[in-house]
Amino acid sequence: MEGLPGVGPKTAQRLAYYMLRFPQDRLERFAEAVERLKKDTKMCERCFNVDEESPCKICSDRNRDGGIICVVETPLDLLALERSDGYAGVYHVLYGVINPLNNIGPNDIYLPQLLKRVKDEVIEELIISTNPSMEGEATAMYIANKVREMGAKTRVTRIGRGLPTGADLEYADDVTLSRAMEGRKEMV
Ligand SMILES: [Zn+2]
Repeated sequence: MEGLPGVGPKTAQRLAYYMLRFPQDRLERFAEAVERLKKDTKMCERCFNVDEESPCKICSDRNRDGGIICVVETPLDLLALERSDGYAGVYHVLYGVINPLNNIGPNDIYLPQLLKRVKDEVIEELIISTNPSMEGEATAMYIANKVREMGAKTRVTRIGRGLPTGADLEYADDVTLSRAMEGRKEMV
């Protein structure tokens, strides 16, 4: 368990001792669930969300507006936005942001795939919902510029300012998230 986000050697040890007290059958169920994790999950070929099927349930939902794409950093951000219940478009998961200090360029995340969607599909609006961090803002600008260079008619908007700088979308509460979504602004 050491090496999971937020889990150092001490926490790992504490968890191991904690789990030793589980009855055998509970431990076995846990082990099976971990084993199934990778087998039962697929990455959506369209938006790169994680689901049991590809295209994912969100992409195949006919009640959702496929012309609006909300761009997020991680599947957890997607889940947070889904919980907030104010959004009926589809998504695109980048799996990170551009971060030159860590040698992460546009081609190291699912950004070319996003630009391809803008080119191939009829996209009315891109709502860039990367975190309000320095890298998140820079990535938003990069996408906006690229879309403009492509000459696409797609509107590029940035999720609203309700989110404090440095905040993590994943941990924002539902009200803040739906306000941020409503308060989105056109990027110039
Ligand atoms: Zn999908």
